[in-house]
Formats: sequence, C-alpha cells, structure tokens
Amino acid sequence: MTDAEIRAFIEQKRRGEQHSSESLRAFIEGFVRGEIGEAPVAAWMMAVCWRGMTTDETVQLTSAMADSGEKLDWSDVPGPVVDKHSTGGVGDAASLVAVPLAAACGVKVAKLSGRALGHTGGTIDKLECVPGLRTDIDIADLKRQVAEVGCAIAEANDRLAPADKKIYALRDRTATIESVPLIAASVLSKKIAGGAPAIVLDVKCGRGAFIQSIHEARRLAKELVGTGARLGRRLRVVLSSMDEPLAPSIGDALELDDALTLLERPAMSGPASRASLRRLAELSIALARAMLETAGLSGVDPAAKLEGGAAKMQFEAMLRAQGGRPNAFDRRFEPRGTATSPKDGFITAVDARALGEIVADAKAHHPKEVAQRTGIRLLVRSGDRIERGRPLLHWFGPEGAMDEGQLAAAFSIGDAAPTIRPLILGEVESA
Ligand code: URA
Repeated sequence: MTDAEIRAFIEQKRRGEQHSSESLRAFIEGFVRGEIGEAPVAAWMMAVCWRGMTTDETVQLTSAMADSGEKLDWSDVPGPVVDKHSTGGVGDAASLVAVPLAAACGVKVAKLSGRALGHTGGTIDKLECVPGLRTDIDIADLKRQVAEVGCAIAEANDRLAPADKKIYALRDRTATIESVPLIAASVLSKKIAGGAPAIVLDVKCGRGAFIQSIHEARRLAKELVGTGARLGRRLRVVLSSMDEPLAPSIGDALELDDALTLLERPAMSGPASRASLRRLAELSIALARAMLETAGLSGVDPAAKLEGGAAKMQFEAMLRAQGGRPNAFDRRFEPRGTATSPKDGFITAVDARALGEIVADAKAHHPKEVAQRTGIRLLVRSGDRIERGRPLLHWFGPEGAMDEGQLAAAFSIGDAAPTIRPLILGEVESA
C-alpha cells in the first residue's frame, strides 16, 4: 500500500465506512512484513474501537491474521479434535481440569495456549510448574500425543498467526484492547491457525475480565460464533462471570495445586467450604460438556468422570507424555503473610483485577522459580460474613513482595449480604 492508500484506509474507518476485503488484507500483510509502521496501525485500531466493524470485515480480518503464518491440520488424527480458549481470567485454572476431563470422556483435545497477559493468568505458566514439563512441542509430536494420549496443551508458538502477536502488543500500548471485533479477530485467528474443527471459547465478563458488561460479552460471543462459522468451524461460547477470582488461588503453582486437588478430591468442590473449589468445578464441567457437544459426542457425563477419577489419570498421562514429573511438584506452600479484615460485615465484592495486578507485580523481576510460587490464597468469598481482624487471605512469595493493606483493599465489606450472579451466564453456539 502507498502512503496515500494507507491514509485513505484509515480515513475510511474514521468515517465509519466498510473496508473491502482486499484493502484489509493488504493492510495486515503490510504491517506483518514491516512495510506499514505502528503509527498508522494504531490510528486505525482506535478508529475501529469507536466505529466498530461489520461481521464481513471481522471475518476478513481474522482470515488475514490466521493466514499470516503456519496453519495446522488435524484431519489425519482419528477422532473429533477440539480446542479450547479463554479470553483471560484471574485465579482460573479451568483449562487444567476441563482439558483432561473432556479427553477422559472421549474427545481428542489439542489445546494451544498462551502465557499471562496483563493481570490475567496463562495456562502455559501454570503447567510449567511441573518439573520437566515441555510445552514447546513440535507438530509431529503434538499430533502423536493427541492421537495416543488423548490430549495435549502446547504453547502457541510465534509461527501461528504472527500478525496477532504484533497487533496485540500494539493494542496493549495504545488502549485498544477493549474492542469486540479486535478481540474476536485476535482470539479466532489463533484458533483458526491451530486447525481444530471444533472450538470452545470461554468468554469472561466482569471486573477481572477485559470485557466488563454482559451486553458487550454477548456481542463478542455472537461475533465469535458468527465469524467462526463463516470460516468453517463449529464453535460454542460459554459466557462466565469474572467478577472475582474463580478458584481460591491466584499464582501459577498455587493454581496448579488447586486443579490437582479438584482432580483428586472432587468432593472438595461441595458447598461446605466457602472459598472452595466449587466454582472451578462448575466451570470446568460446563466447558468439558461444551467440548463434547461441539465435537459431536453425546451420552457421556463429565461430572461423573470427574468424580470417578478418570480425569486425574488423564491429566497425569498428559503431563508425563510432555516430559513432566507430577510427583516432583512440591505441593507444600508456606504463607509469607496474611491480610485481615479492617471491619465486621459481609464481603460484598472481591476485586479480581486488583488482586491479579498485585500478584503480577509481585512476580515481576524475580527468577522464574520464585515467581511461579508467588501468589495468594483466598480464605473468603463474596457473601461470607467476616469479623474485624479475621484473615481474608494468605500470601506467598519473597519477603516484602506484597502489601497487606493493598491486598485487604481489594475486598469490599458492607452491612448486608450481596446478591451474587451465577457463574455461568449463558452459552452461544453456531446455528
Ligand atoms: N485474548 C486474546 O487472545 N486476545 C484478545 O484480544 C483478548 C484476550
């Protein structure tokens, strides 16, 4: 594209007009090749944030981004292959449970995952806490593992949808993350390049998510499903609440420990313990069920498989296939400190974003082995009654890594019990 064409392209979106598929593709290709600089792309993305895009444009953008690198093909792997992705949560180790659970029920799961993004956690960082485990698996080994073991979680490398990596980094610096078409194209381009014919997406909504309102989350879900269908994929979106951390823990090793506890002792998920693993269990089962249905498998109950221990065996088989030594993972955690309640009352909110940011900051600038074991473990949830001076959470990590006053400030405490919305807010699927 010439400078004049680039300017006309940005002006077109600034006026709220629709791009042609050729011009969108040329713009993305020009950026990936380094022929178009960051400034015009940033200006264009801000125009997209304000003006939006039509589904046709989102389809073209997704397709151009997916075509920017390698694409995987699973047609030679027997069995329905499904992938799963979340738009990013806090204290959310659902993939570590849902992936082996769905595989234990009979689908093949090839999950391509990322690392932590901003205040949200990353599945790859959590998995890497298992000593010896590899997530940089080459495609032949990945296919072999999925066919033989039933599931794999591998790091989505830079060769898949490299356009997204470049665009995402720029969105992060230019306050253009929160745009429905840009999020849809970002998530789907990676999944389309990943090649699975069936895809389940967990779209998070709330204080700890990139999308805060249920209205926007539903709009994103519809855009994802519509765009996915136009690009030949069966897609289901589970909309879930991310107002407060999903499981009690935030932090890589602590979250892995939560997932293992749930896989080993599903009864822990019962309502007896307030800050229990119940919500992690509920979401993991809903996601596994969505994976089975999207892959066309019916008649298996993931909740029963979780209870029966099959998912735990499946998880360990996956870890071992990727070189991991699950028994060498140290599950003893000594708290460094405790944040306490400044007053009596009911917990009315637990700010997932604030806690996610505190943990991300505390991890920064420490060696990986220290960062992995840094985090917090909640002792209360919204709706619990608390007395002044009683513990809200324990924190883990190097001396001075967290400020207990700042941690306590993430909890809102009021005189009346709050109304808590359900964890699963709905599902949207291809027609
Ligand atoms: N996750 C992604 O992969 N992309 C986004 O834009 C937001 C969340």
